[in-house]
Amino acid sequence: MAAISFSQVSKAYADGHLAVNKLDLDIADGEFLVLVGPSGCGKSTALRMIAGLETITGGTLSIGTEVANDLSPRERNVAMIFQSYALYPHLSVADNVGFALKVRGEKREVIEEKVKAAAAMLELDKLLSRRPGQLSGGQRQRVAMGRAIVREPAAFLMDEPLSNLDARLRGQMRAEIARLQRASGVTTVYVTHDQVEAMTMGDRVAVMNAGVLQQLAPPRELYDRPVNLFVATFIGAPP
Ligand code: ADP
Ligand code: MG
Repeated sequence: MAAISFSQVSKAYADGHLAVNKLDLDIADGEFLVLVGPSGCGKSTALRMIAGLETITGGTLSIGTEVANDLSPRERNVAMIFQSYALYPHLSVADNVGFALKVRGEKREVIEEKVKAAAAMLELDKLLSRRPGQLSGGQRQRVAMGRAIVREPAAFLMDEPLSNLDARLRGQMRAEIARLQRASGVTTVYVTHDQVEAMTMGDRVAVMNAGVLQQLAPPRELYDRPVNLFVATFIGAPP
C-alpha cells in the first residue's frame, strides 16, 4: 500500500496537446479515489502516468516515499485493471489468478496458498477449476481482480472497469468493488466518466475538465458545495 502524490504533474503529447495540466493531487494510503470527468479530459492519461505507461513531461509523481517519474512499470508495483479484462481463455480460474506469481517464479505451495486466499476474499472458491468461458461477466471481473490482488500491489488502478457490463451487473459490481477495496485496504484510483459511480464509490472524488483538476472532495461536499458551474453541472447538483 502507498500514498500517491501528483505535484504540478503535466503531460504534453508529442503533438503538443496538453492532456494533463499541472495536476496537484494527494491520494492517501488506503484511500478509494475516483477520478471523474467527461471523455477526453485526461483521466486515462493521469492513470497511465501512475502505472508508468506514459511519460511525465512536467512535475513530480511520487508513489509511497519514492519519486516515480523515472521508475519502470514493474518497479512501481501497481496493478492496472483494464477495461477489457484479458483473461487467458485456456487456463482455469486458479491458473489465471496465479499467473503473475508463476511468472515471478514463486513456489507452487506459495501460489496455491495466495490463490486460495484471494479466491476466498472474492468468493471464487467454487469456481477455481472453471475456464473464463464458463463464467458470467461479474465472475470474470472478480477473476481479473484476483489476478491483481495476489501480486500484493501498492495500488490498484482501474480505468472504467465496468463500462462493458450491462446496467444491472454494473450496479452490483460497483458495490462489490467498493467492498473489496475496503476489505483489502489497497490504495485505489478508479477512473470513470460516470457520475453515479463517482458519487457512490469514492472516499473522495477528483473532478477533471480539459486536463485541469476542478475540485477534490468527498461526494457529499461536491454535491453540497461545488466550486464552480462545471462541477455543479457535471455532478448534477443545483448550482
Ligand atoms: P479520458 O480518459 O479522460 O477520456 P485521455 O487521457 O484518454 O482522456 O485523453 C486526454 C486527451 O489527450 C484527449 O484529448 C486525447 O485525444 C488526447 N490523447 C490521448 N492519448 C493521446 C496520444 N497518444 N497522443 C495524442 N493525444 C492523445
Ligand atoms: Mg479514458
